[in-house]
Amino acid sequence: MAANPSWKEKYLQEIEKADVREKQWQSERNTLERMLVRTSLASEGQTPELDRLLARIRKDLRKKHVDVDAWRELQEQIDRQIALLDDRGEASPTPDSGTAGAASAELDDKSHRLRIARRVGQLIGQLLSQVALEPTAEAEARRLQQALLSSEDWDVLREGLNRVADLVVAAVTRSKREFEAFLRRLDERLEVLRQHFRAQAEVQNGRADETEALDREIRAELQQAQKVLAGTEDIGQLRTSVGQHLEAIARVLDRFCRRESERERILAEQLEAMQEKIAALETHSEQMQEQVNRERLRAMTDLLTQLPNREAWQERLVFEFNRWQRYRHPLTVAVLDIDYFKRVNDSFGHKAGDRVLQLVAREMLERLRSTDFIARYGGEEFVVLLPETSVEDALEVVENLRAHIGRLPFHFSGQPVRVTLSAGLAAFRPGDSETSVFNRADQALYEAKGAGRNQSRTAIA
Ligand code: GH3
Ligand code: MG
Ligand code: MG
Repeated sequence: MAANPSWKEKYLQEIEKADVREKQWQSERNTLERMLVRTSLASEGQTPELDRLLARIRKDLRKKHVDVDAWRELQEQIDRQIALLDDRGEASPTPDSGTAGAASAELDDKSHRLRIARRVGQLIGQLLSQVALEPTAEAEARRLQQALLSSEDWDVLREGLNRVADLVVAAVTRSKREFEAFLRRLDERLEVLRQHFRAQAEVQNGRADETEALDREIRAELQQAQKVLAGTEDIGQLRTSVGQHLEAIARVLDRFCRRESERERILAEQLEAMQEKIAALETHSEQMQEQVNRERLRAMTDLLTQLPNREAWQERLVFEFNRWQRYRHPLTVAVLDIDYFKRVNDSFGHKAGDRVLQLVAREMLERLRSTDFIARYGGEEFVVLLPETSVEDALEVVENLRAHIGRLPFHFSGQPVRVTLSAGLAAFRPGDSETSVFNRADQALYEAKGAGRNQSRTAIA
């Protein structure tokens, strides 16, 4: 799973934009604060209550935290105090109000107030060049500035001064609203991001733990962010907090992705290694099986004639005997022995004898049915196992074979040599064992030998 980089970039861009906006807002706020502090200081000395309210403005400003509602309240209190002040000024003229001293004090007072109003007017001008207010608030501020700069009417000036607080509140509210909207958008996107990763993570099998942990961590970060969003009006703190949460989420995702790809890499490696191992094992086991088969075949094969040997015969005999015991289908054993073979060896050499054995074996193999089993029992003696064959049928088969061998045109040292064989046959009968049948067949063979060779005999049942 690869994190979509455009998400991250988007958030980083948003954060940057928010940073710029916040710096701008901060400088606007500083200007407004300074103006408010000066205005409040300049307005001091009227009544203790008004002084107390003005001191509260300055105290609140130091707090960083602007409680808009509390300030509205404060402003109303100030309004009331100023109204009282005006009433007092109009309703209680001194008995000697017409005197020059009183008149000059009032003049001083008036010029003092005018200076303040003009100064505030100038500050509003500066403010308007820096703060982006909503159009209605901007128009209001311009009117206010004009009034403070040019009016001589104290009622107008007083009203104007009172409106300065509104102006500050409007500026603060606007910045705050914008930032809150930004945070809400950000939050919505984070939620989409969370769902996106959650959906992605859910698709992955066998990763429930990691996915749960990821979901939990992101959810916790988002909840934390939402809590901060709901619980504070301090934009600096909000910004820092959202930034931290984003970083935390990015770290969580990073870690998750790293672990995922690491795990995938390890899994892929393991899989590959496993496949190689399996392939090697398969090859090895095939080779072993082939070798076992080869060796088994060699162990069961007579080297000279390539016929199954005595071991193979023994095994096959047991197998066919067991079948016979189960099904009682006819099963016949034939034992064949080359006649006067010693003479071949003696007359033409051992090699010639070997050659005879090989040729006889080949002829036997060719002429017997595939279901018949032939083996070299030893020396010049062969045995045949004929399944599903009665002793009479087997006799016919063996007789044909014997006749065929007897007709083969052997030549040694230029001389034609006749090779014959004798055979004894015996069929399995109730109560037989493998050896008992073989012994009967062997007995029949010796009868054939005794009767003059080159003939077959069946065992007397
Ligand atoms: P019989 O008709 O009574 O069977 O006479 P025979 O000569 O065939 O029987 P005998 O048992 O007297 O001799 C068997 C001979 O077979 C003895 C041995 O030299 C020979 N022989 C046995 N195995 C081999 C072999 O692998 N190669 C060769 N060339 N000769 C063998
Ligand atoms: Mg012999
Ligand atoms: Mg023999």
